Parts: sequence; structure tokens; C-alpha cells
Amino acid sequence: MGSNPIGPTNTDGPATATLADNHVHSQWSYDTGPQASMAAACARAVELGLPSVAFTEHLDFAEPGPADPLAAAGMKRHDAGGLRPLDVPGYLADLAECRDRFPALRILSGVEAGEPHLFAASTAATVGSGRFDRVLGSVHGVRAGGQLVYSGWLLRRDPAAEVMRRYFAEVVAMIEGSGLFEVLAHLDFPRRYWPASAGEYTEPAFEEEYRAVLRALATSGRVLEINTASPLLSVSVLRWWAEEGGAAVSFGSDAHLPWHVGARFQQASGIAAAAGFRPGRDPSGFWRR
Ligand SMILES: [Zn+2]
Ligand SMILES: [Zn+2]
Repeated sequence: MGSNPIGPTNTDGPATATLADNHVHSQWSYDTGPQASMAAACARAVELGLPSVAFTEHLDFAEPGPADPLAAAGMKRHDAGGLRPLDVPGYLADLAECRDRFPALRILSGVEAGEPHLFAASTAATVGSGRFDRVLGSVHGVRAGGQLVYSGWLLRRDPAAEVMRRYFAEVVAMIEGSGLFEVLAHLDFPRRYWPASAGEYTEPAFEEEYRAVLRALATSGRVLEINTASPLLSVSVLRWWAEEGGAAVSFGSDAHLPWHVGARFQQASGIAAAAGFRPGRDPSGFWRR
């Protein structure tokens, strides 16, 4: 197996067909447009030969409920722009219809729980129903100045490295503060919005912070996502994951459009393979060391 420390250019590794896409959004997520469609995403997965796809719709709350830690801390969202609650019955009905229509594809239910440590009671009320096969935990916003602020926005206001550190700290708080999710989504999410004015983003500049996140995640026995909508993690970060005790990785396109399902999976699988992760017997399962 060739190994390339740079990572993202490495295309070694098993074929894309062995990968499950564990992070897909459809029209049931509030931030998708008119072209999003669960059925079209399934058709695309079949076309690519993916064994399974998980529809992990956003589970975010515009306002914290009275029992949520965010409310207890006297905090609110800085901006709830466009945020709509997930229509669980509608989503599940669509899922059942797609399962009938695409019998060869394994279609998993799921949610992407946003800041589940801050919306603990609200999140538990939905996730606790046990109707979701894949539950992702995500941090999109960080606590700053008494508010929960979208990290991409904060990057344009505050020094970028400081926002990134605050973000990683919020991810650790989420891992330690919530047992409601199994897979950590996009662990360095604001990197997508890293401003050119801050110079090049490099993972080694945040090694300590990455390791703190990975250690907390490994300690709780959970799974790290390789998110292919974000700049791809390097082989080095996946080695840090293994060194901190991490055992499993999940692949997620974070597609908000049908034709993004399975995007860059060949590269992602090459990176995981170079760090020693391998597919298991269940093609819908995670890769493990
Ligand atoms: Zn997300
Ligand atoms: Zn997502």
C-alpha cells in the first residue's frame, strides 16, 4: 500500500463501491434548496454502486427549550436564519417510500444533531425515540459573548486562529456533554470558511486541539467522520486519531444536492486506508483498525 503523508492527493485504496455514505441531506433538511430530493439521492447512490446511504437531516433548534442547557445559561442563538424544525413523520414516510422504491440500496435513517450538549432536552426528545440508525453530532456554532454564534460568521469577525480554538473547545464540550450521538461530524468545520487573509490553514498548527477532540471521542468509544464536503483530513490527522485510541471511521459526503452523494469517496478511502483503517464485513458498517 503506497502511503502519501500529504493525504488528499492519495487515491490508493479500495473502490468507492465499498463505501457507505453516512451523511446525506434531503429536502427534509431546512438548508437544502428545491433540487434536493431523497429519491434522487437514492438513485445517485444506486448509480454509484454505494451499498448504503444514511439520510442525516439537520436536527437544530431555533430557540432552546426551557430544560436545555443553553437556556439555563441565559443564552440564545445569535441568528436562527431560516431554521425550521425537522418534520419527523414526513421524513420517515419518505424514507419508507424510498426503501420500497430502491430495494437494492440499504437506506438508513438518521439525524445530524446540532450542538446536542446545548440543546440536550430538545435533542433527546427526538433522538430518544430510537427511530434513527445514524446519529451524528455536530458543532456549527460556538458560544461567544453570551450567544451561540455560527462559526463561519465568527471567522469573519474575530481572529481566525482564536475562533478555530474556540470551535475545537466547543467540540470537546459536546463530546463530553452529550451521549446522544455516535459519529462526530466534520470535526474542523470552520476550516471550510477559513479566510485567505489568515494565511494557509494547516492542521499541525492545531495539533494539540485536534488531539484533545480525538482523545475525548476515542475515550467515549465513538466514531470519527471523514467529511468530504470539508477540505479532506490528511493521513496525519487519521494517524493522530489512531494514536489517541480511535478505532473507527465513517465516510460522509454531507451532500445537500443529489449529485454530491459519494463525492470524493475514492480519495477519502485512500486516506483512511493509508492510516490503517479497513472495511469490515458489513458494507454499511464503519471502517476499523
Ligand atoms: Zn454540519
Ligand atoms: Zn450535514
